[in-house]
Amino acid sequence: MDVETSITTLMDRQTFKLVCDRCGSLTVALPTEAQPNPCSILKCGRCGSPRGTLQSLRDTSIQAGIRHPV
Ligand SMILES: [Zn+2]
Repeated sequence: MDVETSITTLMDRQTFKLVCDRCGSLTVALPTEAQPNPCSILKCGRCGSPRGTLQSLRDTSIQAGIRHPV
């Protein structure tokens, strides 16, 4: 799989919006629940627009090659 194919797939899946399409902010308001549900909707930390689910954030992070420290 080449890079262009993976980027296209990422866009087509309508996953987590790393950049808010309303205000362009990268800030995300994380869930306040003690045990966030994977289906919880994360909102923009600036304008409150929905950005995607917690699960989609994980999927997007994995596909984008972002590694979380263990
Ligand atoms: Zn926003």
